[in-house]
Formats: sequence, C-alpha cells, structure tokens
Amino acid sequence: MKELLVATRNRGKLKEFKRLLADVVETVRCSADFPDFSDTVEDGSTFEANALKKAREAMLHSGLPALADDSGLVVDALDGRPGVYSARFAGEGSGDAANNSRLIQELYGVPFTNRQAAFVCALAFVTPDGCERVFNGRIGGRILDEGRGSGGFGYDPLFLVDGFDRTMAELSLDEKNAVSHRGQALRQFHEFLEQGG
Ligand code: IMP
Repeated sequence: MKELLVATRNRGKLKEFKRLLADVVETVRCSADFPDFSDTVEDGSTFEANALKKAREAMLHSGLPALADDSGLVVDALDGRPGVYSARFAGEGSGDAANNSRLIQELYGVPFTNRQAAFVCALAFVTPDGCERVFNGRIGGRILDEGRGSGGFGYDPLFLVDGFDRTMAELSLDEKNAVSHRGQALRQFHEFLEQGG
C-alpha cells in the first residue's frame, strides 16, 4: 500500500504501528500531519465503535485509507474498568502517571491472585472506496502495585504479562509487538493487506 493514515497522536502507539507496517506500507502518515484535523470525540460504548468512528473521520478528512485503534485496560476486580475510559481514568486530560496512580489506588488491598486484567484492542481500517474492517487483539496479565520498566507507554509498567516474569514496560518494542493486543490486531491487518485487501 502506498499511503496510509494512522489516526493517532499517541507517540507510543505510532511507534508500534510503524514497526509492524514498515514492509507493507510505503508512507505512514499520522494525525499530526493534518494540522486542521480535530480529534474524534470517543463517545462509543465499545472499543470497536470508537475505533470505527476514528477511522471514518480520519478517512473523510484526509481522503486516505485510514487505520485507527481504540484500546485500553480491562480489570476484572474493577468490573472491566477503566475499559473505554482508559486514557482518562484519572479525569479528562489526565496523563499516564495520574492514570497509573488511580489504578494503584483502586486496587489497594486486592490480593495478587485477584488482579487479573487484559489489554484489549479494536483496530479499524476504512478506505475511501467503502471498505470497512475491524481486527481485534487481547492479552492477559496482572496488575502490580508498583511500576517496573521504562519501555512502552500508558499502563505498561503496572502490567505483568501472563507467561512472562516481566511487565509490558520491561519488554523490548519487538517483544511487546510479538504478544500485545495491538500487535495481534496489526498482524491480522498485515495479513489482510498481503492477501490483497
Ligand atoms: P485510546 O487512545 O482512546 O485508544 O486510549 C488508549 C489508552 O489505553 C491509552 O492512553 C493507555 O492509557 C491505554 N493503553 C492502550 N494500549 C496500551 C498499551 O499498549 N500499553 C499501555 N496502555 C495502553
């Protein structure tokens, strides 16, 4: 594919997208390349609805095929929260540090055995000629009460990956992409493009 718009301003996500799409997309653009593009209001109740909304708006604004993910953390002991509100768990405009503090606080006193969680990703691809596809990914883990590692972004330092003795922030970019929710969805998209999608 010649040109693709990845509808995100999240540098951590963009890095992951670029690494996994390098061999199938010639030029990856992002939201910052379109200065008058205002961010989509993420008011859907599911990851899929938000991802589709973001991709549709980005495609309409740019005229380019667009890819958008909506992703987040789902914690069993919090009945699935923060879910679609992951980016603003500690309030509108809150950053990673505040969101992580809120998560630690909400899970205070919850034993390690009850700290199951998952990162979830819905990845939507929308083209000007009417193609719409959604790919999904999910990875399980447990939430620690203290961060470990300096890689990745968001909740990565608190997320002990199932089957690893390391948090997501202790994995390299390639290791994270090989197992992560977004990596899983991006690989399905990659396969879709390779098959001529
Ligand atoms: P979105 O930009 O609305 O999809 O919000 C995603 C939010 O979910 C991010 O701001 C992070 O807080 C969290 N999140 C999603 N994917 C990851 C990840 O791979 N690592 C850590 N946090 C993530």
